[in-house]
Amino acid sequence: MHYTTKQIALMDKLHRLQGFRRVLLSDYIPFRCMRCGFCCREYSPNLTLGDIYRISTFLGISPVKFIEKYCVVEELLGGEVIKLRHDKYCILLRTTHGVPTCCVYSIRPLSCRLYPLHYIHLNVLDERVLEVAYVDGKCIGVGISGSNLVNVREVAQYVAEALIHQIVLEEYGSTTKFISLYPQIKYIVNLLSNAVLTCLRRKRELSLDLLNYVRYLVRENMERPVK
Ligand code: SF4
Ligand code: SF4
Repeated sequence: MHYTTKQIALMDKLHRLQGFRRVLLSDYIPFRCMRCGFCCREYSPNLTLGDIYRISTFLGISPVKFIEKYCVVEELLGGEVIKLRHDKYCILLRTTHGVPTCCVYSIRPLSCRLYPLHYIHLNVLDERVLEVAYVDGKCIGVGISGSNLVNVREVAQYVAEALIHQIVLEEYGSTTKFISLYPQIKYIVNLLSNAVLTCLRRKRELSLDLLNYVRYLVRENMERPVK
């Protein structure tokens, strides 16, 4: 699916209604996290293959067990998101001495790492990566001097991991069948991440040839027996 100007205008409208503001990755956006915990309550973080692999390794459980215990499949996104508790907080949030703390903070999902930046990467496999980024105005840390919210390298990694996750879901219909192969396909993630980074910096779209090559590499690895 390729976003038309009309669809982007509609996305803009929807995002504005939800308090999001469209930004460019070249913008400098002052930001300091005030540790209010809002973002760990309002949203179920979506996970890339890399997130699932890193977090399960950190927690010392298998990726499949992690998915069963901590994730649900979000139909709209087509992939896994972290479960919310009954009080709507993320299941991975703990309160330590009255301060909300992420128990996987050092390897938290890339979508949490990017927040309050929200980068639209969905449904671009048949077309191109497009720069459509938003900032959530509900985050109280936006505008407070600290550092630049936008980290293009992290955006590129997120886009690459999310695209490969999409390929896996399209080709094999399930994350669990493929997740143990993640270390084996890490080089594909790195290759795609560098390509996305170059595109974002040069404001170019990702070539379809590259995406097809990535798809081919994923298939090739999938067909190899797991060691
Ligand atoms: S909403 Fe913003 S300030 Fe609050 S914890 Fe999340 S990132 Fe930090
Ligand atoms: S994974 Fe961590 S940072 Fe992300 S929403 Fe959950 S508790 Fe918050």
